Amino acid sequence: MFNFHTHNEDTVPFLLNCYPGEINKEAAAISVGLHPWQVSNDWKEKVDCVRNDAMNNNVWAIGECGLDKLRGGEFALQIEAFKAQIAISEELCKPMIIHCVKAFDEVLRLRQELVTQSKHERRHPQPWVVHGFRGKPEQAKQIMAKGILLSFSHQYNIETLRFVFTCGHPFFLETDDRRLSVRQTYEQACLHLGVSLCHLENLCDPRQTIFHHGMI
Ligand SMILES: [Zn+2]
Repeated sequence: MFNFHTHNEDTVPFLLNCYPGEINKEAAAISVGLHPWQVSNDWKEKVDCVRNDAMNNNVWAIGECGLDKLRGGEFALQIEAFKAQIAISEELCKPMIIHCVKAFDEVLRLRQELVTQSKHERRHPQPWVVHGFRGKPEQAKQIMAKGILLSFSHQYNIETLRFVFTCGHPFFLETDDRRLSVRQTYEQACLHLGVSLCHLENLCDPRQTIFHHGMI
């Protein structure tokens, strides 16, 4: 069992979200990124800090970072900060964890740009995962069509979870900022999908898909 995105420690293996300049060097696995809510005029210095932090071996992913049209810094700056973090993800070969609110058009466009550029350079782009996804099946379909994966907190749309499961795509489960174990989300998802915990533990383990190096 693995908690894909959390701001607190869990009783099962987890990927701890940290902010630039505040990374936890003791945790086995962390992600670091500049959140769109924290984007302001000094975003460049903060993104430099992300790059520096991300060189640590226990940093498995860049994020959460991304775009938010309801909250956060000026949208044009959010785009710049997000693009700079995409570049770090590619440079350091670490996947991206994405926070996206009402900005999926832009995220999909940036993914397409990256895919096209990677093709020219004959390499594979890093995996992207949209975390805390609550959208409907149709939106999940559009996102997955671009090769982007999804992570669900306890507030997922049941139809969407079933749809993603039926498609056979890997997906992940997380607690985000809730102070509870992800175990409850796994148990809830097992009931909704009619599968065993063991089945879901394998399917939702990012160490078997996007983090091949990670054994904790
Ligand atoms: Zn979060």
